Order: sequence, then C-alpha cells, then structure tokens
Amino acid sequence: MAASGSRLTSPSAVLEREPRRVAGHAVRRLGEGLLVVGDGGEWTTLSEADYRRYAAGDVRDEEPLGAVLAERGLLRDRLDFARLGERFAARRLLRWPGPSVHTLVVTRRCNYKCVYCHASVVAPDDASTDMTPETARAAVDLAFESPNPQMTIEFQGGEPLMNWPVVKFAVDYARLKNRAAGKVLHFGLISNFSLLDEAKADWLIERGVSFCTSLDGPADLHERNRVSLAGGRHADAVAGIRMILAKRAAGAKVDVPNAICTVSRHSLGRAREIVDELVGLGLERVQLGPLDPVGFARRAWDKVGYTPDEYVRFYAQALDHLISLNKDGVKAYEKTALILLIRILEGGHWRFPNADVVARLAYDWDGSVYASEDGRLLAADGDPFFRIGRAGESSLAELLDHPTARASLYASMPECQPMCAQCAYAPFCTISPTFNYETQGAPWGRMPDNAWCGRIMGIFDVLFERLQDPQARAVLESWLEFKDR
Ligand code: SF4
Repeated sequence: MAASGSRLTSPSAVLEREPRRVAGHAVRRLGEGLLVVGDGGEWTTLSEADYRRYAAGDVRDEEPLGAVLAERGLLRDRLDFARLGERFAARRLLRWPGPSVHTLVVTRRCNYKCVYCHASVVAPDDASTDMTPETARAAVDLAFESPNPQMTIEFQGGEPLMNWPVVKFAVDYARLKNRAAGKVLHFGLISNFSLLDEAKADWLIERGVSFCTSLDGPADLHERNRVSLAGGRHADAVAGIRMILAKRAAGAKVDVPNAICTVSRHSLGRAREIVDELVGLGLERVQLGPLDPVGFARRAWDKVGYTPDEYVRFYAQALDHLISLNKDGVKAYEKTALILLIRILEGGHWRFPNADVVARLAYDWDGSVYASEDGRLLAADGDPFFRIGRAGESSLAELLDHPTARASLYASMPECQPMCAQCAYAPFCTISPTFNYETQGAPWGRMPDNAWCGRIMGIFDVLFERLQDPQARAVLESWLEFKDR
C-alpha cells in the first residue's frame, strides 16, 4: 500500500488487524475525501472515516461499502484475477501490436515563424530538407513492417504542403501497399492551411486524409504567437477549417478537422475565449497543447513560458467552460481529458495515443527514425540521443531493439519510475522520456520537481474533482462517445 500525501494508517497496524482484507492501493486526498486507487486501476472515493475503517480491516462484506470495495478490487480476498489479468496485460504491453502512428516530416521548410516553434524550420526557398520520394518509399515500407492492424501515416513539417509532390507520392504508395496488407489505414495532414486550396483538399479527401491545423484562439492571440512570412495566419487556419467543414456538409467523406491550440503565456486568462473560438467554428475537439521548455521554446521561455500550476489553472477554466457549454447542448470534448477518462473510466481500454515507440515513430526528412516526434525535434536542435535507426537501412525489429527504444519504453511506464510507482495516478499516467531527458538529463525523471508530472498530476486532480459532481460527470462520460472517431 502506498499513500500520496499524509499516510492515514501504518501497514503494520493493518496487518495486525486483518491481513486479508486490504488489497494493494494508493491514496490521494480529494477535497474533503480520499481517492483510493487499486493496483489494477479501479478506484473509489471514501470519507476519511470510511477509509480508516477500510484500512483497519473493519468493513464487513454485508455492508454496502463492503460490496463497493469488493467490486472495485480493493479487498484482497475478493480480487477478480481474470479482470486484473486483462488490465495488467494491456498496461504491460503483453499484447502490444507494435507502433501504429508514423509521422513523416516531408520537409522542414515553413512559411511561418511561430514564437515558440519547436520544429527547427528552414526558409521557404531552401529545399535542402525536402524528403525525396525514395526516402518516403523507404519510410512507408518500414511503417508497414509493424504488425499493428491499424496504421496512421501523418504528414508534418515544417509546412508539409511545401513538399506536396512527396505527400501525394506517400499517400498513393501506402494505399497501393495496403491492397496486400489489408490494414485499417488512416492519413493525417498537420498543416497551417496557408497552401491548402480546393484542388489539394479534394485530392486528399478522396484518399481518406483527415486534417489538423494550429489555432491558438481569437485572431489577436493567434497572430501574436504565429508570425507569417506571407501574411494570413489566423485567416488561413479559419478558411481551411471552413473549407473542410463545407465539403463535409456537402457530403464529402471527411472527418471534422482538428485544431491544436498551443497554450503560451499570452493564452493564460483567456481560456473561455479560446474554447469559444474553437467550438464556434464547429470543431468537436478542443486540444489545449501545453508548451514545454524544450527546443526553441526554451530559448523564448521568459516571454512565452509558465509554471505547471498556471497551466493547470488555465486548463481547469477551459474544461469547466466546455462542460457548461455541453450542458447547454454543445457537443465538443477536450482531448487530454478524453484520453485520461478512457483510462480512468474504462481501464480495460488502455491506450497510449502518443507514447514514444509504443504508439508513434517519427521519420525525419532524411529517413532518420526517432523514438518520438519530440526526440526528432531534439535531434534538429543538435542532440541525436533518440535516433534509433534509418528507413531503408534498419528493420523495425532493429529499431525496437535499439537501447534507446527499450529505455524509452521502460521510462514511459509509471511502474518503472521511482516516485510514480507510489502515486495514486500511476495506473492512468504515461510519462515522456524525451521531456525528462531534455529537462532533467535522463529518460528517468525526478518527479518531485518535474514539470510534466506537476502538470499531469494537476490535470488528474481537476478531472477527479469534476467526476465527483454528478452533472459534470455525466458530461465527461458522454465524451467517451468520441473515442473511436
Ligand atoms: S508522472 Fe506524476 S502524476 Fe504521473 S504517475 Fe508519476 S508521480 Fe504520478
């Protein structure tokens, strides 16, 4: 048993009273009560008095509380080993089908110069970092080595539409290969939309590509963060979103586009306006991407950065506003909340949507493969620590067997991190080895002063607090409907 915050009873006292009753668990104070999380990730909230009775082995099976504790996997002699086995198998990757998301950086060219850009971009007329068709072919071949039946190929930059011929080549080549492979194949384009015209949009939609852009909120906020070499910015993003939505309304088979809001210091205090801007455009997903003190952003941190607590305050304001909009009939969700709610409310559906190596590999313009997109950005900044191979030279098995890939896998699991192993949120959390490496010097972080931990722990606190309110909980549970979109 591990407790976060004050320990309420000593393990030896529990063992003396009723050793069979209390299953392995961790505790975190939540308002007036306590959140009790079993090792398998099932949880309940208890008053302090009930927790003391539970921890002392005094709760009888006939009591309603006894039934709750048994059902939640918190009584040692009533554990459902089949269910626990499923959860542990999923979390420990025993049935891991291999990485599913493959990010191709088709160029580092970009026509924007954002104040926090991590992407180490080059000038629009410098084609020296354009991916060639041969490299794109090798990257797609390597991606198809993953046995995962689901595959997403995502195009990023720089601005990927600056190397449009290679985007087209990679889409067509992957579709051709997939005739034999038979995977569920998705494509995603992450673009500032400044170069997206009707013809390109139609070509992409016809081939099942979904669209994502950056939109930091109202025009003045977006323009402050993103400097364009050609003008436009906010207008470009909004026009692209409207174009895709119009085609969808006219019957085109295309997902609702997504927009990532990067939260800079200028965003703090404007949470409601940002949510209103995204939802007002007809987007379903609100994604509030925190800024990390890495790469270019680290150099501009005194202008754009903030503390984990400041981000969590902003996040809580945005989440509460979104919940209240949902109560008024709006259908939109927040992405991080959904990922964590899937784990918190449906532990069996364990997902690692962006986890290094587990879910995602990044392929740079020259074919270098990285354990994560952040690892690629670190290399662009001069440190190739997370480079694990090269398309056309390495097999997927060799990539996954690379010492850095194996270290990243272990480091991303809370069970393998010293302080995390005792944390009540460990069954729901994943960790960024790249963030740890960049900010603390090794894939294993020092969680007491780790900003990633401070931020995610604050988000967990916010979510569990909102889950105590029946109306807010109903809204949060309704977001699970979006999980397969
Ligand atoms: S990173 Fe922080 S919140 Fe997550 S499991 Fe570790 S200690 Fe807990």
